[in-house]
Amino acid sequence: MPFDTVLGQERAKQVLRRAIRANRIPHALLLTGPDGVGKAALALALARAVNCAQRGEEPCDTCPACHRIQGLTHPDVHVLFPAKRSRREAEDVDPEDERKFLAGLAQDPYRYPAVGPSETLLIDRVRRLEKDLRRGLYEGRCRVAILLETERMRQETANALLKTLEEPLPDTLLILVTSRPNALLPTIRSRCQQLRLRPLAEAEIRQALLRGAGPEGRIALASGLCQGNLRRAHALMGQDVEDLRDQAYSFLNDGVFGADTALVPFVERWSAGGDRKALDGLFDMVVTWLRDIVLFQEGAPHRILHTDRRQEVERLAASVNTEAVSRTLSEIERCRDMSRRNVNASLILISLWRCLRRTSHAA
Ligand SMILES: [Zn+2]
Repeated sequence: MPFDTVLGQERAKQVLRRAIRANRIPHALLLTGPDGVGKAALALALARAVNCAQRGEEPCDTCPACHRIQGLTHPDVHVLFPAKRSRREAEDVDPEDERKFLAGLAQDPYRYPAVGPSETLLIDRVRRLEKDLRRGLYEGRCRVAILLETERMRQETANALLKTLEEPLPDTLLILVTSRPNALLPTIRSRCQQLRLRPLAEAEIRQALLRGAGPEGRIALASGLCQGNLRRAHALMGQDVEDLRDQAYSFLNDGVFGADTALVPFVERWSAGGDRKALDGLFDMVVTWLRDIVLFQEGAPHRILHTDRRQEVERLAASVNTEAVSRTLSEIERCRDMSRRNVNASLILISLWRCLRRTSHAA
């Protein structure tokens, strides 16, 4: 059952099986859904299915075609991803960067290497794809192009892609993958059939984490706190989740109830070393607490993530109003943005802290 290499997403798999059975694969598919739910994994599974020697509804994952697509060495399957321009050739992707990225993707489509904030799909790469697609089939039945994080595209690149979409080629499937479909040109969206993936269930994440190594307590915590995002779950497994959770809670709690001086240790710890990923992890965790506060206020305490810390959630929920929580959530988005732009981490933390102080006064 090789669509099983894709975790959960039963409805989407059903849609694809039906399309394959009826031989009605669209020319262009827009695969959407939040981060870490398996969009790239499903795109690759579909690329195998439409080229598999067994010609079933699912890829067999044992024939040479399936193997070559799995290893990303199949000449009819192309993967494009946001990248920096090569310094050597002045344009297009650096071959070494491409090799590294594809090796990571082939190894685990749920954990392909993260791309930098300023990297985009390059126009030269899209133009090269257009040429590749027109060249005819090498050994497969269907040429497949998978564009990851498609929303990260400049206007000129979007126009080039639009040209490819406007003149669909036979035996060609374009899979546009994005977590932000609204950031795409409406003209691009309208030329694709959209298939939406959902956040993964806690049990599905847990099942995936259990395949690796890791203490059971941490697996339970990571699958509960990752909000259906397997990439985040894996990141949590690599951290001291308990500590991160405590830090996020203390930041909120001290921000609302503590003294001004309580900020100092946070600034010292989280601005040291300039680790932006760690700071982002802290924000993720603060968001999980804020989410629980809102659930409590909305009368749904059975849905909270921090079930073993219910009293703390309850106390905060009684002390801050919902409007203040939503203001804090927007502030966190602003903080993430500042962090991406490399604003000094101390300043970012101070800004979030100030927002929390206002929250406590508003209560
Ligand atoms: Zn096969």
